[in-house]
Amino acid sequence: MNRLMTAILLVLAIAYVNPLFGKEYVVKKVIDGDTVQLESGETVRYIGINAPELYMKEGGSEFFAKEAARFNKKLVFMKKVRLEFDTEKQDSHGRMLAYVFVKNIFVNAELVKHGYAKVMIKPPNTKYKDVLLAQQQKAVEEVRGLWQEKRQDTETTYIGNKRTYTLHRPSCTYVKKIPDKSRITFRSRSDAIKIGYTPCRYCKP
Ligand SMILES: [Zn+2]
Repeated sequence: MNRLMTAILLVLAIAYVNPLFGKEYVVKKVIDGDTVQLESGETVRYIGINAPELYMKEGGSEFFAKEAARFNKKLVFMKKVRLEFDTEKQDSHGRMLAYVFVKNIFVNAELVKHGYAKVMIKPPNTKYKDVLLAQQQKAVEEVRGLWQEKRQDTETTYIGNKRTYTLHRPSCTYVKKIPDKSRITFRSRSDAIKIGYTPCRYCKP
């Protein structure tokens, strides 16, 4: 093999393993702290995190939602982004599920690091779970962003499902369906939220 051939193969190999050479998309609209729209019209929901709701059905928005949307906009609006996927490429609303990168910034992690989003573990999409949780730990310790919200526990214990990472009030009907080996008890709501649990949509703990 001559030298030129070797050089070409090397460049191709680097391009293949280096995500910087991956396909790029342009973000044309920022919907909120964890959702954007691409120039192609497709909606992308960031995986592994959940930013506060900007427009709720009941009206108003959750604590720190506007700040989260603004920060997300600063990171990605009209920028070229790379998308990385996990096991599920789409959610039930037909949105693309992706990890988003702008140059060397991992956007999902950056939002968590500054307290603009919480880690939301949703198996089987858990590729960056440890990276995201490490960032969240710092945000919690330094009481950054949404972690400043004061919230009193209304239950003496909360029940989690270790398999789905869902958190319930003990009285929730779904608690009875959790197999013993998947059941975990938390003494406060925040103990579970800090490690990536999502509040149940029905009992809303
Ligand atoms: Zn529940």
